[in-house]
Amino acid sequence: MNHIETEKEQKWEGMKLEFESHSYNEGFARVVVAAFMARMDPTVEEVDDVKTAISEAVTNAIIHGYQNGEGIVVIQAKRRERTIQVSIHDDGVGIKNITQAMEPLYSGLKGGERSGMGFSFMEAFMDEVNVESELGKGTTVTMTKHLGHTIYK
Ligand code: ATP
Ligand code: MG
Repeated sequence: MNHIETEKEQKWEGMKLEFESHSYNEGFARVVVAAFMARMDPTVEEVDDVKTAISEAVTNAIIHGYQNGEGIVVIQAKRRERTIQVSIHDDGVGIKNITQAMEPLYSGLKGGERSGMGFSFMEAFMDEVNVESELGKGTTVTMTKHLGHTIYK
C-alpha cells in the first residue's frame, strides 16, 4: 500500500535564476517565472498575480536590499500539481523589524516616494508570504500560491 501512495505523490519541479541587481532585470524576472508557470495551465489572472508579487519582491531587493548598488538577486521557484512556490533572495542590508516592514503603508524610505504597499500586494496576490531576514546578511521572501481551477484531462 505504502509504495503505491509514494508512486502517486508528485515531485516538486524547480528552477533557479540569478541576476544582477538592476531595475532592468525586474521585467526579465517576471517573465521567467510566468514561463515557468505555463505548464501549470494557469489563468491570465493567476499569472498576473504572481508577476505582480514577483515585481514587488524583486524591486524591494534592488532598492532596499542593495540600496540601488551592486548585488545578485536569486529567484528560486518550484511547482507541484496546483501549487507554485517562489522565493526571492538578496544578500543586502536586511530588515530590522519584519512585522513593521510588512504593515500596510509602512516604508523604511522616507520622503514619500514609496507607498509602503509592496508587502500588502504580495499578501493580497499570493496565498502565503513568509519573510526571513537578518541585518547585514540579507532577506528571503518566500511566497506560495495554490491555483484555483482544476485541469480536466
Ligand atoms: P512600495 O513597495 O509601495 O513602493 P516600499 O517598498 O517602501 O514601498 P514595502 O514593499 O511594503 O514598501 O516594504 C516595506 C519596507 O520593508 C521597505 O520600505 C523597506 O524598509 C523594507 N524592505 C522590504 N524589502 C526589503 C529587502 N529586500 N531588504 C531590506 N529592506 C526591505
Ligand atoms: Mg516595495
